[in-house]
Amino acid sequence: MDEFDVLVLGTGAAGLTAAVTASCGGARVGLFEKSDRVGGTSAYSGGMIWIPANPYRPAHRSDSREAALTYLRSLSNQRLRDEIIQAYVDAGPEMTQFLEEHTPIEWACVPDFPDFHPEQPGAAASGGRTLECPPYPFGELGDWRDRVQVSPYFPASHITVGETTLGQPVAIEVPADVKRRRIDNDERGLGLSLIGRLLRGCLDRGVVPQTEYRGIELVMENGAVAGVVFETPQGREVVRAPNVVLGTGGFEWDEELKRAFLRGPLTEAVSVPTNTGDGLRMAMRIGAMLGNMSEAWWMPVITVPVEVVPTGRQLLTAERTFPGSIMVNRSGERFTKEAANYNAFGAAFHELDTTRGVYKNLPCWMIFNQTFYQKYGLAGDITGGAGVESSPGAGGATGLGPDAGRAPDWITSSTTLRGLAERLGIPPETLERTVDRFNANALAGHDPDFHRGESIFDKWYGDPALRDGSAAPTLGPLEGGPYYAVEVKSGALGTKGGPQTDRTGAVLDVDGNRIEGLYAAGNAMASAMGMTYGGAGGTLGPAMVFGYLAGRDISRGLAPQKAAAAVASA
Ligand SMILES: Cc1cc2nc3c(=O)[nH]c(=O)nc-3n(C[C@H](O)[C@H](O)[C@H](O)COP(=O)(O)OP(=O)(O)OC[C@H]3O[C@@H](n4cnc5c(N)ncnc54)[C@H](O)[C@@H]3O)c2cc1C
Repeated sequence: MDEFDVLVLGTGAAGLTAAVTASCGGARVGLFEKSDRVGGTSAYSGGMIWIPANPYRPAHRSDSREAALTYLRSLSNQRLRDEIIQAYVDAGPEMTQFLEEHTPIEWACVPDFPDFHPEQPGAAASGGRTLECPPYPFGELGDWRDRVQVSPYFPASHITVGETTLGQPVAIEVPADVKRRRIDNDERGLGLSLIGRLLRGCLDRGVVPQTEYRGIELVMENGAVAGVVFETPQGREVVRAPNVVLGTGGFEWDEELKRAFLRGPLTEAVSVPTNTGDGLRMAMRIGAMLGNMSEAWWMPVITVPVEVVPTGRQLLTAERTFPGSIMVNRSGERFTKEAANYNAFGAAFHELDTTRGVYKNLPCWMIFNQTFYQKYGLAGDITGGAGVESSPGAGGATGLGPDAGRAPDWITSSTTLRGLAERLGIPPETLERTVDRFNANALAGHDPDFHRGESIFDKWYGDPALRDGSAAPTLGPLEGGPYYAVEVKSGALGTKGGPQTDRTGAVLDVDGNRIEGLYAAGNAMASAMGMTYGGAGGTLGPAMVFGYLAGRDISRGLAPQKAAAAVASA
């Protein structure tokens, strides 16, 4: 194996950004991936990044560092490390420009996408902070074209989020010739475009991923990192280098780590299953200080037949925001604003019943009726829509949507609400009362219980065809059977706890000192965002910024390291 200045572990957006940045700074980079495919969950994703005060926002969208910090602090319950959140906000615009200059990355602002808490101070209530890449021709990747993860959630991805129903009553029509060209050229959008472009940037610099290389242990010499032990199909292999970047994703696929650290259940991960906390274990073994360990990027998820989605899971992003649906808990009561952003559901799922010590809102169900089902479908072809932050639920390829008649058997049904409650094992009178109350309030155009439809965000996510300034896009009654229910489970896009870093992405030990040569980025690190999710792209944005900061710090440190090595060998 070649000699390297840095070993980057993981080929998601965090790892690829670190690799290309370090390489541009003159570092010899080794890039290693546990899976036989590159791209990680980042390739599964909608590919949006949330970068406050970015240079790509429309001129009329004013933004500033101070506004972004005010916003994030207002959501943090004092759980953010201020220097880390400042490092993220400060370096975001620079990272985006750097990648445009040095890789095929091109950024476009997703128009008008509001922050997830638009009424908080400092929020970008009319958008401007969310960026994405136009579709990328995968032929440009040569042999690597078929070695990138394929998203089970967006199987046909020749679109951008900006072309979907987000922010406009109907999806922006992509001209037929553009559509044809994209299909002919295998131009892929969303997370695949982001990963395709970053990967091309690495390949152009001679940074070629080694797949099926699972980092399992750090080699340490005199308290500093000196390499990594890998597990490969050929057996164990030690690769030496004075710097290592952990871009190994979260620990959402490791039962023991989840039980040890998370604040409540995470039963349905929707990330790549290779994210088993390897980077976390490596860092713990050498005494790294951990942070944010109880948190994840929470997501309500339903389980579906594998014919619907190959993973057997679907993210419940859009349907719960459409009018004519509610969510109820085991008592048959509503328990939160159904149209809240998905990350906010973590708090609702983990609420404890202080008398019985059980999770008050698990299990829980989304309840809807035939009218709703025929209009919106469920868990259908979300790629007709957009990325995770949008994903209209209207059916389609799976045949589950409009005109599909009665819902399929995996969805619990009954002709009456009472019958539905009995099938779910929840009190029938309470469910009837809950629906009656919700209907009366919805018909009056308000939700005094959970304020659904009051936030700009709720209306943005609701049915775009009903957008008229009122709560109508999200608030409407469930009138007449048959009635349906699907269980909604506590899922996540990934965990967000790990080794704490300083402003440069360098990992700190339990005494707050840098562990020489060790860096972390993305879901492998203690997230800069604490418990918050600022807006669309709120996970990939920080992942790439800290990948960039780590890559930059490593290349800046090369000159002194090389000088010291020369002295030592003289
Ligand atoms: C459907 C969906 C849509 C999403 N949309 C968005 C969006 O639009 N915007 C947004 O901000 N977020 C989105 N997310 C979340 C986002 O995709 C993740 O938070 C993000 O990809 C994490 O990036 P990462 O680089 O840290 O990890 P990953 O992209 O998961 O990459 C980690 C990589 O490390 C590899 N690895 C693990 N262990 C080892 C090891 N020991 N050695 C070597 N390699 C290892 C893994 O195999 C994997 O390839 C979405 C998620 C999903 C599922």
